[in-house]
Amino acid sequence: MVAEIGHFIENKRVAGTSGRTGEVTNPATGEVTARVAFASTGEVDAAVQLAKKAQLAWAATPPLRRQRVMFNLKSLVEKRADDLARLMTLEHGKTVDDAKGEVGRGLEVVEFSCGIAHHMRGDFTEQVATEMDSWSIRQPVGVVAGITPFNFPIMIPCWMGAMAVACGNAFILKPSEKDPSAPMLLAELFAEAGAPAGIFQVLNGDKVAVDALLQHPDVPAISFVGSTAIGEYVYHQGTQRNKRVQALCGAKNHMVIMPDADLDQATDALIGAGYGAAGERCMAISVAVAVGDVADRLIDKLAPRVSALKVGPGIDPASEMGPLVTRQHRDKVMGYVDLGVKEGARLVVDGRSLKLQGYENGNFMGGCLFDNVTPDMKIYKDEIFGPVLSVVRSKSFDEAVGLVNDHAYGNGTAIFTRDGDAARAFANGVKIGMVGINVPIPVPVAYHSFGGWKASIFGDHGIYGMEGVRFYTKLKTITARWPTGIRSGAEFHFQARN
Ligand code: NAD
Repeated sequence: MVAEIGHFIENKRVAGTSGRTGEVTNPATGEVTARVAFASTGEVDAAVQLAKKAQLAWAATPPLRRQRVMFNLKSLVEKRADDLARLMTLEHGKTVDDAKGEVGRGLEVVEFSCGIAHHMRGDFTEQVATEMDSWSIRQPVGVVAGITPFNFPIMIPCWMGAMAVACGNAFILKPSEKDPSAPMLLAELFAEAGAPAGIFQVLNGDKVAVDALLQHPDVPAISFVGSTAIGEYVYHQGTQRNKRVQALCGAKNHMVIMPDADLDQATDALIGAGYGAAGERCMAISVAVAVGDVADRLIDKLAPRVSALKVGPGIDPASEMGPLVTRQHRDKVMGYVDLGVKEGARLVVDGRSLKLQGYENGNFMGGCLFDNVTPDMKIYKDEIFGPVLSVVRSKSFDEAVGLVNDHAYGNGTAIFTRDGDAARAFANGVKIGMVGINVPIPVPVAYHSFGGWKASIFGDHGIYGMEGVRFYTKLKTITARWPTGIRSGAEFHFQARN
């Protein structure tokens, strides 16, 4: 049966009224499982008006009470983690264990938001001048929109939604149209946790909904996570209208393997970070830079592991790697593998012909491994976002760092080595937002922040942690003097404070 998915407005599921919908498919079987409503400009406006009204009372609610809602949310998300994970697997394709891990990563930020009363506290300075005091406070921005990608349908809405709501904003989520069911359940959990009606709403949709949010005068802040092309568009459209915008975008993450690295550890790291979630992670490793004489030994270890990957439906606990999200995306990834061969890279493991009995209509492909990839190739320059790992051979550490720094993207990177000096020089010198030392996917914990550099980000950096508190609040500074002892008479010029 094909389910109908509408929107989540004022703490209720409502049907869409635009007459426009999109298909949601199960990537493992290819079957259409739901039709999701696409919001019209009018539906967006109505949701924004409700959010605007609700936000005034929510902002006036003491942070201690707001954070109690986040505590409730934490325990509800924990209770419903299996349901959230299953919904993600059925629409995204990732394995259930990976989906549960995603819920855990989202929860870390919900936990951080449970301390919002502390994180939002202000600063006070006594005696900034004689008998004059000054203090700074952080106040919510208003109605915040979050536009999120298909690959983390719970983690990223938790990152944005928990931070924005705890800070006293009303949040409108526009999730990916490819896997909307888990975000809809998350919205129900916000409501059950005690978020007042209008504080966490979901508008499903496509470009029409995104454009309506970007153009809306009552939405002063936009958080976006997705591809670079769309992120750049969102950033320009939003900032042209004087909104604050953070747009976290695409990636091509390099892992540098030094000749002294523990190759078993490096191989494990590359298999997990390159092929986990079928490579559909913004922090996936898609380039292995083999330094010095390490390449042949590395390829010898990697090739049998890539060939032996257990590919299957995400719902099967035995699967290590599920299907790609859509048939169109799978074909695009396969097209890149064809191109790599044409460009002259050596295809060591070819996963293009993988067929799974009983899942012939699923979007499966096997893991692919390229050797001898060079920086002029398109398969090196572009984000492929699939289970394709490219090995680039590099003569020296300096050349490897040069590759990392010259690449257009700057989300994450890692170095595998036993040499502390090399690791320190790497961490210090790379032009990348998130760096791992013997850690392949260095996603920062909730009390640091997340974000890349270069073409991996436009605008404001922080999505969670204290950077997130800054993004979702406005700073106000008050300077006060009480009448006692004030000199009389107008002051026409600035004076040195004393
Ligand atoms: P996407 O850019 O296609 O979609 C992201 C969001 O934008 C979705 O909600 C989508 O509906 C909307 N959108 C799509 N086309 C649009 C258009 N023409 N106008 C306005 N809105 C539009 O990205 P995706 O395929 O869902 O996600 C994968 C991408 O996200 C990859 O590039 C990946 O690297 C990136 N990503 C980045 C991070 C990060 O933190 N840097 C995290 C996760 C994913």
